[in-house]
Amino acid sequence: MRRTRGLAAVGIAAAALLALTACNSGSPASPGGGTGGGEETGGSDKPLFEVATDVTLEGSPTFDKMTKAGKVTIGVKEDQPGLGYLDATTGERSGFDIDIARWIAASLGFGDDKIEFKPIASANREQAIVNGDIDYYVGTYSINDKRKELIDFAGPYFVTGQGLLVAKDAPEADKIEDFNGKTVCSATGSTPIQNIKANFPEIKTQEYDLYSACVQDLLDGKVDAVTTDQAILIGYAAQYPDEIKVTGGLFTEERYGVGLTKGDTALKDHINALFTDGGETWKAIFDKNLGSSGIEVEQPAVDK
Ligand code: GLU
Repeated sequence: MRRTRGLAAVGIAAAALLALTACNSGSPASPGGGTGGGEETGGSDKPLFEVATDVTLEGSPTFDKMTKAGKVTIGVKEDQPGLGYLDATTGERSGFDIDIARWIAASLGFGDDKIEFKPIASANREQAIVNGDIDYYVGTYSINDKRKELIDFAGPYFVTGQGLLVAKDAPEADKIEDFNGKTVCSATGSTPIQNIKANFPEIKTQEYDLYSACVQDLLDGKVDAVTTDQAILIGYAAQYPDEIKVTGGLFTEERYGVGLTKGDTALKDHINALFTDGGETWKAIFDKNLGSSGIEVEQPAVDK
């Protein structure tokens, strides 16, 4: 059994935090794995979290807007199994990010029936937040300085890194340069595609709005690899265990934050306090959604 405990290249502070087992896809971060936030976990009837009552949040324009609307609108992904996924047949949303989003909503007094989820692709996240189309965004959203010019982040609540997904019969790759002269697919506006374009000019790129389109191209033999966060790739590998596999280690650090309207410090502080005080809930959400994925990660401390 091949075990990828991979933190290649660039000094990754998360090394101690994170280890990923690419081969352990037997009982994966599969779609439809959970029944939704606030509900049960692992067969026990205990809710993951309670919906708070009588919440006040002084000085948060976003909270005021939610309260007026009587609902919270959350931007998410819906094609990333284990993280943010919509089962088209049942209409059920599942995944680690989805439950994190629900946990935040519950802490603000909004139960599942008061949540509207909006799918928003990687390239459109900042604009959706700036426009006020969503109250916050939870979807494999890396904290970085460029994005912070337009929006704020709470968190991080998860750390992973850029990895590679290839055909099952492809040779193992241990570095991104193995794909010089080949075609690698990723999502428009994502940090992985920006990284490839800026630092690996010999790699040809294919871009789509959604990673699932890249995965389809890989299954069809139209691209040589898909690159994005390894936590996302593990979910896809688990969907098609006979056709594709995660290979190599991590070559960046991606720290996931909750995207917020710039300047809403009250909401940011509220979410950071929730993460800081809610370690057990974080762990329960992780175990429910990613516990059998092979991903081993501890909850990171939020940024000061
Ligand atoms: N975490 C990376 C990013 O925020 C890649 C995943 C994604 O596109 O959501 O760009």
